[in-house]
Amino acid sequence: MSNPMAQPTGPVLVLGAAGTGKTTLLVEAVAGRIRAAERPALVLALTRQAASELRDRIVRAAGRTTLAPQVMTVHALCLTLVARFAAPDDAGPGLLTAPEQEFRIRELLRGSPAPWPGELDAALGTRAFAQQVRAVLARARQLGLDPEDLSGAGAASGEFGWAAVGAFMGEYLDVLDAEGVIDYAELVHRARLLLEQEGVLEAVRAEYAAVLVDDWCELDAAQIGLVRALAGDAVPVVALADPDTAIYRFRGAHPRATAEFVRLFPAARVVTLPHAHRRPPAQVAACAAVARRLGAPAVEREALAAYRGVTGGGAGRVEVMTFPDEATHARHLAAELRAAHLDDQVPWGDMAVLVRAGRTQLPPLARALIDAGIPVEVAGDEIGLASELAVRPLLLGLEVAGAGGLPDGDQATRLLLSGWGGYDAVGLRAVGRRLRAADPAAAGTPTETLVAEALAGVRAVPEADEELAARRDLLARATALVAREQRPEAVLWELWSGTGWPERLRADAVRGGDASARAHHDLDAVCALFDLARTSQGPGGRPGVSWFAAEVAQQQIPADSQRESAVGGRGVRLLTAHRAKGRHWSLVVVAGVQEGIWPDVRRRGSVFDPQRLGASAAGPELALGLTTRDLVATERRLFLLACSRAEGRLIVTAVEGTEGEEDRPSRFLAELGVAPRHLVSTPPALHTLRQLVAELRRTAQDDAASPALREAAAARLAVLADATDDEGFALAPDADPARWWGVHEPTSTVAPAREGPIRLSPSQVESLLTCPRKYFLSREARAEPPREIRTILGSVIHAVAERAASGELAPDDVAAALDAVWASIPFPAAWLSASERAEADAAVRRFLNWQAGHDHADLVGVEVPFSADVTVNGRPVQLVGAVDRLERRSDGALKVVDFKTGRSAPTQKAAEVTPQIGVYQLAIEAGGFRDAGTTSAGASLVYLRVEDGEGWPKEFRQPSLTEKPHLTDDPEELAHPTWVHHQVARACAVLEAGRFDAQAGEHCTYCPVRSSCPARSGQVIA
Ligand code: SF4
Repeated sequence: MSNPMAQPTGPVLVLGAAGTGKTTLLVEAVAGRIRAAERPALVLALTRQAASELRDRIVRAAGRTTLAPQVMTVHALCLTLVARFAAPDDAGPGLLTAPEQEFRIRELLRGSPAPWPGELDAALGTRAFAQQVRAVLARARQLGLDPEDLSGAGAASGEFGWAAVGAFMGEYLDVLDAEGVIDYAELVHRARLLLEQEGVLEAVRAEYAAVLVDDWCELDAAQIGLVRALAGDAVPVVALADPDTAIYRFRGAHPRATAEFVRLFPAARVVTLPHAHRRPPAQVAACAAVARRLGAPAVEREALAAYRGVTGGGAGRVEVMTFPDEATHARHLAAELRAAHLDDQVPWGDMAVLVRAGRTQLPPLARALIDAGIPVEVAGDEIGLASELAVRPLLLGLEVAGAGGLPDGDQATRLLLSGWGGYDAVGLRAVGRRLRAADPAAAGTPTETLVAEALAGVRAVPEADEELAARRDLLARATALVAREQRPEAVLWELWSGTGWPERLRADAVRGGDASARAHHDLDAVCALFDLARTSQGPGGRPGVSWFAAEVAQQQIPADSQRESAVGGRGVRLLTAHRAKGRHWSLVVVAGVQEGIWPDVRRRGSVFDPQRLGASAAGPELALGLTTRDLVATERRLFLLACSRAEGRLIVTAVEGTEGEEDRPSRFLAELGVAPRHLVSTPPALHTLRQLVAELRRTAQDDAASPALREAAAARLAVLADATDDEGFALAPDADPARWWGVHEPTSTVAPAREGPIRLSPSQVESLLTCPRKYFLSREARAEPPREIRTILGSVIHAVAERAASGELAPDDVAAALDAVWASIPFPAAWLSASERAEADAAVRRFLNWQAGHDHADLVGVEVPFSADVTVNGRPVQLVGAVDRLERRSDGALKVVDFKTGRSAPTQKAAEVTPQIGVYQLAIEAGGFRDAGTTSAGASLVYLRVEDGEGWPKEFRQPSLTEKPHLTDDPEELAHPTWVHHQVARACAVLEAGRFDAQAGEHCTYCPVRSSCPARSGQVIA
């Protein structure tokens, strides 16, 4: 087939799926013109990066650099036209970047005289509102609409918010005009107006023999109009299109771009490219199965059949894998990448991991792969700087300094537990103890309050805590810089350079090994932060520092193209699917394809959906906007784009949790038509030195292994422990037993003495008895991750039930009360919100049934606080807490009801020995509710999410301590007045011993710190 782009004589639409050689033909055609010294063709590319890559390829193919190929983006073309045809004394407008434009809109909205409806008052100052207004302004210009058109469309449909946006648009354009700046949409609009001027069009047309447009389907209506005006019928236009992977509809890409081409150029010839040379047949078939669910582009049937019936070539396979959790997912991913590199010799730079959601999916994935020793490359602007671990404490320090240098407890703890602070949880607790010891009045004050006061300089720091004093002084110096109106970079530099952290990172970076990759990554992120601080336009002093901290946190800093171009192809690329357009790799992993994430059908404008704005023959109008079906189709195209990037092997992954519907593979996985493999176990990987050391250590300490094997493992460890690199650094320091965790005896077996009574809540007793490690990490070290949806839901159901029980909420108002809080629960997907809502309604309904039919004699109260002193083993213990519900029987005895919101209920037997409600009973008997009574009538566990068959929640009763003072014949238990005293004594013994050992069991399933638990995995921490 001859190259349809080489010497076009009229309009041509080239339809070709990914890998069919559209770009190669374009490069050859333009290079041929250069070689033959013919009049040049104008090539329009989608992005600056794509234009630059195309230019390089054309120059290489032409073999000469004397004639530069005319390759540019539509915006660059417009800028050239506007600059070239401006009045001689006009310097031409400055161009606002998208974030700069948004910033300007926010400023203007603050004092906007536009007639905004009253209901928008609260939204006017918000960033989200400014974003939506910006999108509407861009859309209006894409459709060639003026402010009056927009106002008219709003007024005609009775939507006065839209009418106000029209008024605001006029004001916005006036201000920008006065300032001599324009935005991208306005730039295209002005270029189109320019082409209408006499002589301009002819001058431009005379320069080009043809116009070649890459990615025609991603152009918006204004850009399509510009190309049409530019070419007319005089210059042949060749449009390269792959409508099934057109993904920028949300930016205004024309939904029927191929049909529009045929409409605008009725004489167009449609050419299809039928063979995808570099895409394996298996991958082509899988993508075709997905594409069949998309609407057909409006071209003739034959052309469509040829376009969709593309054939593949080359070797490669498609695999779909699911995993039970994120940790297993990351481990398998790392193992697959490493195996491909070592076993199949795929260069790191020829592999990519693509995800849907950059901000939420990339940072954890990058960290997990770096931790697994995989070299990864992430363009600087893909991961928000604020998500970088190394950047967070600097930003936080900046924020604190900007606010006067007085951190709260949470801020102080986060600062001190970071690389900047240099403390770990145990060290910080020790600081807390010393601060308490230095000030008797601080005996009951939590550590976080004490360290916050110390950092703020309002509490004396003990002499032993030099590091804490140094951080305090550093924060004070940074605060003083802010007070002296210094700019953010000066304050950041003070914070960064004033600790040993930079030196530690530098040493790690040059040492090599796994820590080196992490250190390099952290240093890169910090450098990027300094670059941004240096180039940001904000003022100095407090306003500038606060602005910069807030803007980085909200990712409002302009995208950093330098960080993008710094990606050097030496590691596995991690990027969003949107960024993958136009790129290919031998191995592509499309990762984390979860329902709720992909498709992402959240609407991007809740007040003003720009897609509602249209322009028909009758004029501008407000329509219904994109339907969910449209959104799913766009997401499907994006998925197809991601899958079609593989030139060899394609792996598509998702997490499929065993419980909790949050983790559900996307519907797109099934559409590939490839049977998924569910991988549960950890991959057997010995591909890194660190893993080898861990395996050798495990074997050397394995009692079940033969003595010879253990000895051999120990001998190899000894060799590794002595090995050093060229600079004398230990290659495998973790092979040295001196560094092994848990091998040494504790430095002290005497736990710090606890003075005064031990204070315990019933849930703490239960937690200490269930698993001391989990208790320590979650309660004392505060290492619990943020609350999961499940926990938040439990609290919501609890709160509503409590208000209903107290009479504060009438049964008929329960649904409204749930409505009021529901929108603020961060559900990952709309369907999950709906299904959980149904469950919450059912739980509250069960509660109301139970409350109405329950034979309680007298309700003493709900959420009743108590404090009771008991003595166990001669030790004073203070029991504190609050009971969900306290009832009094006719004989005066008190009964506690504890509501549970878990989905699985215990057995009756287990409920009878539950320490938590046992402790409530003990609190009653010890006078915790003295005013109500001091005799316990037993306790109940009521499971609101578990139905008993009659519309009631399941209830499990625990006998009173009088009925059943002991549960076993265990002499230890019998030595105490009741079984509950025994349990409290056991809990106190754990605290007094200061040993918080892991105790594995069924409870591990929902343990928030299980990922690091040695008892669960038997792992050795290397
Ligand atoms: S996983 Fe199990 S044993 Fe480990 S800390 Fe959690 S509850 Fe304890």
